[in-house]
Amino acid sequence: MKRRIITIDGPAGAGKTTISRLLAKRLGYVYVDTGALYRAVALAAASANCVEDEDLLSDLFKEITLEFRNGQNGLRLFMNGEDVSDRIRTPEITMLASRLSAKPVVRKYLLDIQRDMGKDGGVILEGRDMGTVVFPHADVKFYLDAANEIRATRRYKELSDKGIKITRAEVAADMKKRDENDSTRSLSPLKPAEDAIRIDSSKMSIESVLETMKRYI
Ligand code: C5P
Repeated sequence: MKRRIITIDGPAGAGKTTISRLLAKRLGYVYVDTGALYRAVALAAASANCVEDEDLLSDLFKEITLEFRNGQNGLRLFMNGEDVSDRIRTPEITMLASRLSAKPVVRKYLLDIQRDMGKDGGVILEGRDMGTVVFPHADVKFYLDAANEIRATRRYKELSDKGIKITRAEVAADMKKRDENDSTRSLSPLKPAEDAIRIDSSKMSIESVLETMKRYI
């Protein structure tokens, strides 16, 4: 069977990560979490103290290597050989990733990396612009969404389960800001590709989202 390129885009908290991971497992595909790449760039920029300077950012990118590895704890992201998977999940890095993702120098740097990760097919790429910009000719494109309240509750639970101290109101406010940043930026804004299959997961179980997607695939 053809090893397809499948994209899953949508806003934060829509269920993309859970669904992408499970779908990849069932299909025997590779899963690429492109949000993690933006988060790693944010972590690197914050550590090097060069968030605002495009030239310094571009120099910084020459020194970074990013690599996904599958381990016992699922998909892990290594930056320059160090596992940064947990450090990129803080609320601060989350907001910084969204801010930096509007910068051309950042998007350009990650574009080639993402295309390289998906080029051989048999891959599920999760993000914001996978179906619109990175893989406009993907075999199957999904746009996964859910009601704002539900997305905020899901994300709050996810962060609390990880022991991150944050209130639900803060999560909802951060999410609103991020939705705004991500969908109004001029470069690769978050929006469904014209040929994307739209799924609203608000009232669906994980299993029924997976079944729906498998039917389309
Ligand atoms: O998906 P996740 O919440 O980890 O993404 C973090 C941030 O990275 C998003 O808010 C968005 O600004 C950015 N991003 C992006 N394009 C992608 C994936 C993520 O701009 N393909």
